Amino acid sequence: MLAAYAVQVEHSRGRRFPEPQHPYRNDFQRDRDRVIHARAFRRLEDKTQVFTRRYSDHFRNRLTHTIEVAQISRTVAGALGLNVDLAEALALVHDLGHPPFGHAGEKALDSVMRAHGLFFDHNLHALRIVEDFEQRYAAFRGLNLTFEVREGIIKHSRDYDAAKHPELAEYLLDQRPPLEAQLIDLTDEIGYNTADLDDGYEAHLLTLDQVRAGVPVFEYFFRQAEQTYPDAAEKLKFNEALKGIFNRLAGDLITNTQARLQQAGTATLADIRLHKERLAAFSAEVEADRKQIKNFLYENLYYSPSLAGEKDDAERIVTELFTYWMTTPSALPHYYQEKAGQDSLPRVVCDYIAGMTDHFIIEQYEKYCGGKGFKHRGHR
Ligand code: MG
Repeated sequence: MLAAYAVQVEHSRGRRFPEPQHPYRNDFQRDRDRVIHARAFRRLEDKTQVFTRRYSDHFRNRLTHTIEVAQISRTVAGALGLNVDLAEALALVHDLGHPPFGHAGEKALDSVMRAHGLFFDHNLHALRIVEDFEQRYAAFRGLNLTFEVREGIIKHSRDYDAAKHPELAEYLLDQRPPLEAQLIDLTDEIGYNTADLDDGYEAHLLTLDQVRAGVPVFEYFFRQAEQTYPDAAEKLKFNEALKGIFNRLAGDLITNTQARLQQAGTATLADIRLHKERLAAFSAEVEADRKQIKNFLYENLYYSPSLAGEKDDAERIVTELFTYWMTTPSALPHYYQEKAGQDSLPRVVCDYIAGMTDHFIIEQYEKYCGGKGFKHRGHR
């Protein structure tokens, strides 16, 4: 039974190109499956989340991160009586527009675009992927996803100004997205905040003492683990503490969102859409925990000197390749040369680079720009 404020698949605004109903999958289930079968989805396997592969082959990459976010989203959506199929589709698609090399790659791509008066935004790029670049079906370009999935791609993590983005007018920019989309930004954070503590500790970039001192909510659960399992290995107590944080964040997201729905008197999906602010949220207390973890990760992991060398490499590779294709467009693959006839060259080069995996872009760099792609081999 779905809550009255859930998105009902029967009330979907539908696809750009109408298609016959599938005998045993509804439209959101089909969208979820279309995302999983997309080329861009498979490429997530070789896109950096935080750590490049040279650190370890069992750290998160963008694909495993995405699967973790889908798992959390299904749980939270189910507990809230929301449409689990839609939440799952949105979680699986949420990072589809990310370029290679994680945040460093995104920053570099945005900055080379800004020199041409343009910009790079991974949500807008994800929309271009599902609307245009994925070509799997004879009847239409793109994946022909339902309105609600496309809307969620755009609106799950931020609001776009309707005046600045006339091309997004159809996505009801003056309205809040449904809860299924609102929760993705938060389940994303639950996923990477706990995962990055885990991988950071495993990579020996964070020490146990450092995390205990810098993240009070971790300290709280670590002490509990010490009391319950005094003889367990440090690594297992570390995991128990992470599990505690994980459940606290996810549980609070559920109960606090329920409380906010009640306070706001929201009964229907229309109420959610017209409410002045997003209703999926952590409580003030857990929001403070979330910020502490995030700030800790920024100060001690994301900006750690040990990762700086690889980030410099990533920025250099993206910047030099972009410049190379801008000055030598004849070296672009034929498909992108044709695209350059319809779209501006910087946008076409940006699209090409954004779609690449870490491995492929390094190969391209070494082929066209000469020299070694990665000069810094990271820590260890
Ligand atoms: Mg994410």
